[in-house]
Amino acid sequence: MEFGEKSAKLVDYLRFQGIGEKVLDAMLRVPRHLFVPPNVREEAYIDTPLPIGYSQTISAPHMVAIMCDLLDLRVGQSVLEVGTGSGYNAAVMAELVGSTGHVYSVERIAPLAEFAKKNLMDVGCANVTVMLEDGSGGDFPHSPYDRICVTCTAPDIPQPLIEQLKPGGLMVIPVGVAFQQLYLVKKDADGTVHKDIKGGVVFVPLIGRYGFSDG
Ligand code: SAH
Repeated sequence: MEFGEKSAKLVDYLRFQGIGEKVLDAMLRVPRHLFVPPNVREEAYIDTPLPIGYSQTISAPHMVAIMCDLLDLRVGQSVLEVGTGSGYNAAVMAELVGSTGHVYSVERIAPLAEFAKKNLMDVGCANVTVMLEDGSGGDFPHSPYDRICVTCTAPDIPQPLIEQLKPGGLMVIPVGVAFQQLYLVKKDADGTVHKDIKGGVVFVPLIGRYGFSDG
């Protein structure tokens, strides 16, 4: 089976799981097999996380889909991602915000930041900026953001990230260690913050100043 055909089957499966059409369209336009190392390329359209080196993983397609759906991404928005990894999730979000929007993605492992930059360039994704830094503490250029997507699990929701969310903004972030839950954080126009739990998840840890310690 060709990659395109496998991708269409995966998207059909995700539609059946209740994912919205906008997100499914974006996923159809991003070739996941170009974001994984060659040894796992054949598995790129199976709904599973895959190793990308340095003990990290590209998230399972259903997880990317759920996070993008919860974020309700709109054309023209600015997005902060913490945990670039392969760059795949950033590329899907970049499709959703369009050429007038932008994704700023932070990665702490230098070779992964380079891997992501190459993958994004290879697929012609021009509206993602990859930054090499500890993303847990925030304070990045172009802050505050309309949306924040954290793709690694935090001990708690870092206050600096809440501060970098615009009024009316949304953030998704996994929280916990052995038992992790995905939070949807909403900041009202008046700055009031609401935190809703959206379900159990499995992510690699957020390592850094407002995350877990390394080692
Ligand atoms: N969104 C990625 C998934 C990557 S896994 C994808 O689509 O492939 C999570 C990533 O978060 C790992 O690459 C890990 O190195 C990174 N990470 C962990 N702590 C971080 C921090 N404090 N700042 C930035 N990146 C971090």
